[in-house]
Amino acid sequence: MPSPTVYKIAAIPGDGIGVDITEAAEQVLDTLAATNGTFKFEYTTFDWSSKAYKERGWYMQDDWEAQLKKHDAIYFGAVGWPDVPDHISLWSMILPIRNTMNQYVNVRPTRILKGTTAPLAQLQKTPSELDWVIVRENSEGEYAGQGGTTHAHGPNAIATEVAIFTRVGIERIMRFAFETAKSRPRRKLTMVTKSNAQRHGMVLWDKVFYDVAKEYEGVVEFDKMLVDAMTVRMVNKPESLDTIVATNLHADILSDLAAALAGSIGIAPSSNLDPTRSCPSMFEPIHGSAPDIAGKGIANPIGAFWSAAEMVRWVGKGELDAVADQFMQAIENVTGNPKTRTRDMGGSAGTTEVTEAVCREIERVC
Ligand code: ATP
Ligand code: MG
Repeated sequence: MPSPTVYKIAAIPGDGIGVDITEAAEQVLDTLAATNGTFKFEYTTFDWSSKAYKERGWYMQDDWEAQLKKHDAIYFGAVGWPDVPDHISLWSMILPIRNTMNQYVNVRPTRILKGTTAPLAQLQKTPSELDWVIVRENSEGEYAGQGGTTHAHGPNAIATEVAIFTRVGIERIMRFAFETAKSRPRRKLTMVTKSNAQRHGMVLWDKVFYDVAKEYEGVVEFDKMLVDAMTVRMVNKPESLDTIVATNLHADILSDLAAALAGSIGIAPSSNLDPTRSCPSMFEPIHGSAPDIAGKGIANPIGAFWSAAEMVRWVGKGELDAVADQFMQAIENVTGNPKTRTRDMGGSAGTTEVTEAVCREIERVC
């Protein structure tokens, strides 16, 4: 038998439950690799966290960029702790990684996994009505870091937060979104904007959308929504949506709404992708470090596993899609069983029990 393909993973557990769920994700990934036999994972773990920052004054070492680039993918747990302001933890790690590693796409699939109780009555009856992929622009907009503050501490403090939009940036995210829509059965894309009130950046965003749309006429069905009306449509007509593309800020907010509609923030995955594959892409559950439940062994690891499944798909470049599908099947067999659900899903199982159950299912299904 040929020796297994090795995928090098940079693991950044971070803070709080990020540590528990990263450990759990490695355990299930190793089980998946051992069961399959054609590939395996090698991890380098980086102790970049708010806790370490408090002790030594820095999050990532100076050569972080070179270190990360030695890997095929990055697996990220969560960062943030109450004793460090959020903008410091975000701007010290996650945003520099996304920007420097050219991860200009953030993909957030949302559907109601078996065993999840969705808050909307209609979705409890027909969970299949919510099956979305949110494509978030991950490098520009309000999160570009442009702006300034004057008289910061006085009564006349002024701060500006400048949103940046470029044709290059918009075009590449639109193309990715159309390709995503095209690859899904319903071939449908909804573009979110706020061009009635924001008359520069969002108008360019609309224009580039329609330019790129010309290439997909007759192939992908597309429409445009204002972000405020979009929140209403997500709640009232979830079945009318499939692939959604929005700016960094709008998609950040809409994807939290999507996660809540799907039942729990603990199950939602995300991928930060460099579609050019010049740098490693990064996979992380969307939840944070959850200080309220950290260290209690009760964190839901399902979002972490789903993110790991997306990582398998990505590093496999099409060759591991069937394995990723089986991995998802194993995950849903576990969420479908009331005995192996965590508290946020109405059960009483701990992180370890769920992890072990997923490993057993992988050995059975994969
Ligand atoms: P961040 O700013 O890093 O996004 P946050 O404070 O906005 O963090 P979370 O850390 O995600 O939010 O926590 C929000 C709530 O969801 C908390 O009550 C937390 O306990 C719960 N929660 C988050 N992740 C999980 C999980 N994996 N399992 C169970 N509960 C979770
Ligand atoms: Mg949050």
